[in-house]
Amino acid sequence: MTDALPPRVDFNVKAFERLLNQKGLCFTWEKATICFCSREDGTSDPNCTACFGNGYLYFDPKDITVVVTTLKDTKAFGDLGEHGFWILGKVSITSPAKHNLSFKDRLTAKNSQITYSQLLFIGSKERLRYKALEVIFLASEAAVFKLGIDFEIVDGAIQFLPSKEPPAGTAVTIRYIANPSYIILEAIHEIRDTTLVPATFTRMPRNHIAELDYLHEVAI
Ligand SMILES: [Zn+2]
Repeated sequence: MTDALPPRVDFNVKAFERLLNQKGLCFTWEKATICFCSREDGTSDPNCTACFGNGYLYFDPKDITVVVTTLKDTKAFGDLGEHGFWILGKVSITSPAKHNLSFKDRLTAKNSQITYSQLLFIGSKERLRYKALEVIFLASEAAVFKLGIDFEIVDGAIQFLPSKEPPAGTAVTIRYIANPSYIILEAIHEIRDTTLVPATFTRMPRNHIAELDYLHEVAI
């Protein structure tokens, strides 16, 4: 008879790192800090040009690899749950402890893509929420615009060619492809550390709940 080891209360960090390398996705991680416009009651200035009313500023972008899964609760929806990633807009993100992801941080997928649509007004300060990777449709009420003939995509933004731009104030609808961004809502295991033999304090991977930013933030 052999003495079985008691179940571990932590998990194998090396195995996690293997999983990360096999299944991980690359995201650009930006750290959040409270904007100067934040008020004592927790609200922020909707006209703030630094945070666009979101109340947080973002800095220090860095590419990291994390494991992204749907939330377990979405299984309650049966087959629909398989699509919970998009329907509910929330995901579970597990990251190596060394990165110290935290509340309100922003993670933008480097490779995954979403389709997004928004309305712009010519001449206003509005901009595309995301950098456009590809424009599916761009039109005003009077005309449909074509890539290379009417406009170009310059660093993810729409730039009309000379004499092709509609008059100031014209509403233009655009449907485009972009990399999605997520905002961290909850740090479930922010302090999930353990002591390994011999007595060595070891930081464990962290798990966070994040939400698609356009469902979470005030529109920018
Ligand atoms: Zn602000």
